[in-house]
Amino acid sequence: MLKSDPYWWEDFAAFEDQPADLPTDCDVVVVGAGLTGCSAALTFAKDGKSVVLLDAQRPGYGASTRNGGMIGGGYRLSLDEMTEKYGSDTAHQLLRESHIDSLAFAAARIKEEGIDCDYQQYGRFRGQWNKAEYDETARGLDNLRKLLPVNIDMVPPEKQKTEIGSTLYSGGMLLHDHGGVHPGKYLNGMLKAAVRAGAQVFGETAATEVVAAGSGFAVTTPRGVIRAGAVLMATNGYTTAQFAELKRRMIPVSSFLIATEELPTGMADELMPGRRMCVETRNRHCYFRLSPDGKRLVLGGRAAMNKVPSARSAQVLRGLLHEIFPQTRSLSLTHSWTGQTGFSFSFMPQISTFDGVWHAMGYSGSGNAMAPYLGHKAALQMMGDPAGETAFSKTTLETRFWYRKEPWFLPFAHWLYRFKDLRDDRVRAK
Ligand SMILES: Cc1cc2nc3c(=O)[nH]c(=O)nc-3n(C[C@H](O)[C@H](O)[C@H](O)COP(=O)(O)OP(=O)(O)OC[C@H]3O[C@@H](n4cnc5c(N)ncnc54)[C@H](O)[C@@H]3O)c2cc1C
Repeated sequence: MLKSDPYWWEDFAAFEDQPADLPTDCDVVVVGAGLTGCSAALTFAKDGKSVVLLDAQRPGYGASTRNGGMIGGGYRLSLDEMTEKYGSDTAHQLLRESHIDSLAFAAARIKEEGIDCDYQQYGRFRGQWNKAEYDETARGLDNLRKLLPVNIDMVPPEKQKTEIGSTLYSGGMLLHDHGGVHPGKYLNGMLKAAVRAGAQVFGETAATEVVAAGSGFAVTTPRGVIRAGAVLMATNGYTTAQFAELKRRMIPVSSFLIATEELPTGMADELMPGRRMCVETRNRHCYFRLSPDGKRLVLGGRAAMNKVPSARSAQVLRGLLHEIFPQTRSLSLTHSWTGQTGFSFSFMPQISTFDGVWHAMGYSGSGNAMAPYLGHKAALQMMGDPAGETAFSKTTLETRFWYRKEPWFLPFAHWLYRFKDLRDDRVRAK
């Protein structure tokens, strides 16, 4: 029987530390108990602030415990694109923060807080879809090296079998500093650290309204109203329609994952000899890895852009798994699940405010390092600490006139991407 809950939830302990009553006053309310919210709450609590962290579901219900567990830096936009949009200085700062600072911060937080989340610096292999892409990536890396001390190498096609037992890719890029975590344990650890520092966490407690009240805000929940000096929205791809300004800026693109049954003896070595976190450059953006115990394959990708039944997404992902590793045809799947990423139209996250209410969101598919980093930075900025300075306060969180509340366009975007997939297949076949 295929389970539709994330594989990671099997090691994601139930949250039991919930206080009985919602306080009526506090310094800060953080809405959304994912990696952004937990990290922000931890920073506030360590500074002695009274902080209440709310989640509409169980804490960690969102993308933070559903993802692929790959942790690293980097962004979707090229340096040229960032320079054109934000100017050269900001673009360089964005590059440094996304490639280096965010990962260094997340790794330090894991260590300092003793978060037991199977974090390991496995390295990430990015398979190149064809020879032209390999050459372009190698040129891009030469340019990046002139700007940043990155620990990245190209893996030519003739050497790739030491990294991965697939012949689908034309070589790859190896990002040595990137790692992997167990997402359930990672979130659990971050949440527990926030509670240890003094944060009060309430699950099943949605913020339904935030309005200005006196010198602060009143946050309405089904358990009552809390007055807070400041509010941080950390809801990313799970932002709801009550928060219209944010909802119109966050696109909840679904991503899908599967986990296989335990691999037969020797198969892990055959398929994943380098034990890397693997991604690829084609538009399908498959990402795959071994589970932290090395016994299963976990693979994610675009089965659709909106929600589809887990049996349907499993069928699509199974096909992609077989394409990458034909050796896995006899394997059964045990889990097939989904989660919502929070894409912004600029493909960049942002820390800013609307009507005095802060937000940190828009990770656009990659947040295991960036979400705790920006949660922390947002908290520092809200407390007036200059260390909160970040170029992600200069990015834009845009909307479009045709996006009001529902992301009606996602099924159409899916078909557009299916054409891109066909083009990718043709380009590779040449
Ligand atoms: C399937 C998938 C695979 C991914 N793989 C990777 C990966 O391998 N590596 C990587 O770096 N990133 C990955 N990501 C992205 C990464 O998971 C996210 O960027 C990151 O977890 C965002 O964290 P967050 O705390 O901002 O949001 P979330 O973890 O989504 O948390 C938002 C929370 O807000 C709560 N909420 C919403 N509205 C309200 C409300 N009104 N009141 C109270 N609570 C509310 C929700 O219940 C939810 O728990 C993936 C994402 C998905 C979905």
